[in-house]
Amino acid sequence: MRAHAGCGVEVCETATQLVPGDGPAGAEVVFVGEAPGAAEDLEGRPFVGRAGRLLADLLAAAGLRREDVYVTNVVKARPPGNRDPRKAEVAHHLPWLVAELEALRPRAVVPLGRHALAHFAPDLSVAEVHGRPVERDGRVVLAWYHPAAALHNPALRPTLSADARALADLLEHPLGVPTLEP
Ligand code: URA
Repeated sequence: MRAHAGCGVEVCETATQLVPGDGPAGAEVVFVGEAPGAAEDLEGRPFVGRAGRLLADLLAAAGLRREDVYVTNVVKARPPGNRDPRKAEVAHHLPWLVAELEALRPRAVVPLGRHALAHFAPDLSVAEVHGRPVERDGRVVLAWYHPAAALHNPALRPTLSADARALADLLEHPLGVPTLEP
């Protein structure tokens, strides 16, 4: 990723830098966001801005510490003006996410919001599946609303807290994970 240059894809060309995932090799849970924002673009680390601070609070509610989990994004470069990432940009960056998951083989993946969920379970919407573990491609997937959604709409905050508790429940049941189909 550090050597990536000259591809001509808008997000890669306009971002300050690419933002790789961040966390320990032994992380049991991988959180996957959408794309870096302004703070992440400058610092080169995912979820270091306002959404990141809320994510840290939610992790604490799930009994997790930021330094024990792996945090990454579907798209590794900030879209100009924080626009939604384009399909072609997601496809362009997907090999990095695939490699991260292959290396980590986490117990659970937590897609944050619809762009991340679209990769793991394209048939499901966040509204219908958030806080409920489902199994996809041999992987336990437990989607949350994106923390930024709760910054825009504070009424979502209790829902995100419930999603965090659902993750804590899942991690407490190492065997017989209740993987509900919607
Ligand atoms: N929002 C995201 O989806 N990812 C980040 O890294 C920061 C904010």
